[in-house]
Amino acid sequence: MPRILESIGCPFCGCSCDDIRVTVSDDGNTILEVENACSIGSEIFLNASRTNRITRPRLRQPDGTMREITYEEAIDITARAIIRAKKPLMFGFGSTTSESQAAAARVMELGGGVLDNCASICHGPSLMAVFDNGYPTCTLGEVKNRADVIVYWGANPIHAHPRHMSRYAIYPLGFFTENGHLRRTVIVIDPRKTDTANIADYHLQIKPGRDYELFNAFRMAVQGFEDEIFETVSGIPRQMILEVSTILKQAKFGVIFFGMGLTHTDGRNHNVDIAISLVRDLNSSSKWSIMAMRGHYNVAGPNIVWSWTFGFPYCLDLTRKTHAHMNPGETSSVDLAMRDEVDLFINIGTDAAAHFPIEAVRHLKKNFWICIDPHVSMAAEIADLHIPVGIAGVEVPGIVYRMDNVPIQFRSVISPPDGVLSDEEVLLRIADRLEERTGSRYGIPDSEKAGQNTNGYRSATG
Ligand code: SF4
Repeated sequence: MPRILESIGCPFCGCSCDDIRVTVSDDGNTILEVENACSIGSEIFLNASRTNRITRPRLRQPDGTMREITYEEAIDITARAIIRAKKPLMFGFGSTTSESQAAAARVMELGGGVLDNCASICHGPSLMAVFDNGYPTCTLGEVKNRADVIVYWGANPIHAHPRHMSRYAIYPLGFFTENGHLRRTVIVIDPRKTDTANIADYHLQIKPGRDYELFNAFRMAVQGFEDEIFETVSGIPRQMILEVSTILKQAKFGVIFFGMGLTHTDGRNHNVDIAISLVRDLNSSSKWSIMAMRGHYNVAGPNIVWSWTFGFPYCLDLTRKTHAHMNPGETSSVDLAMRDEVDLFINIGTDAAAHFPIEAVRHLKKNFWICIDPHVSMAAEIADLHIPVGIAGVEVPGIVYRMDNVPIQFRSVISPPDGVLSDEEVLLRIADRLEERTGSRYGIPDSEKAGQNTNGYRSATG
């Protein structure tokens, strides 16, 4: 008899939906049906096939081919590479569990390298703004039950977070929002006429890169300086700004959801900073919150886990044995790669080869490149060492942090192929090997760090 599993978490986008129903074959090996998930989420489960999977680590040979090796060998090679490297960089973690993120912290603290996550290339500017200006936020449950005005600024959830509107923000009937979307006002601020803009009550088609000025105009309107607003700001007529600001002020409970349209356009962290200030202004007359539309299902996780471990959420330089150091621009992955400072790269729970600028990838590829990933992604395709692992959220259980920083326990629905480890197990064994090889629980002595040469195969395996 097939088994039906309820309340399963979806390991794809930052909505981290935990109401998925999955039907599994009676031998527990095959996922037969997925309910409640959007089409992207369904595909994650239905494509978690046992066939055509890489089930053993593979090491690139001098002739360019890959040879299967054991996990023991892969762990040993990785530990030795970390010991030799002067500045190893471990990057990713948007698509894995918080247990792995904690294990990675142990590895890089011992290894004395740089630990970074996907925020470095997505919502890092949001985190910097939060440092400066606070974070008046809420949970998605509060949004569902209370919010009557929703602003999507620089975000297109219909495509990037397909159930955000139906599960949390617009359509669900909540405790104080029993009429669902009928009593909610949706405002989209985006230079493009997106599908989300098409269903909004108001679409303000802002000029690209002019977000800061429009936030400023809203702040002026909210603070009573309407007469001093220019006739047009960022391409939006003054009359429209005043009409929308009246809606903002009269909201019972409003939320600004912002995406990478704010963090990756001119202004970056300053855009988010002034968005937070607008929310603070609005809170003098009504109740408002703000929330980043985090991309992956656990991209918020490393920010939380590493903040409680080291005091910083991303771009962690752990090469100074005494303390962690964070300075985006100096210790951020892409900047380190572009300056050619990294002599060992470990990709995990993401695909840096697909998302980094090509010049950064070229620099990183000069040295040994390790990829810890269930799939043959681009990062795995160009890796010198590929260590396959179980698929988090499908084959491996663990904690994930939803976009509102609420932790959720994800369960596994099938087991990984025989002999395949989780990335947490791989990382913990690498940490143990580092301790064994160096005889130290307090990090690798500088004398051991000879540095990699540009021939990764020889330096890591020789
Ligand atoms: S909205 Fe996101 S988390 Fe929810 S089912 Fe779709 S992909 Fe999965």
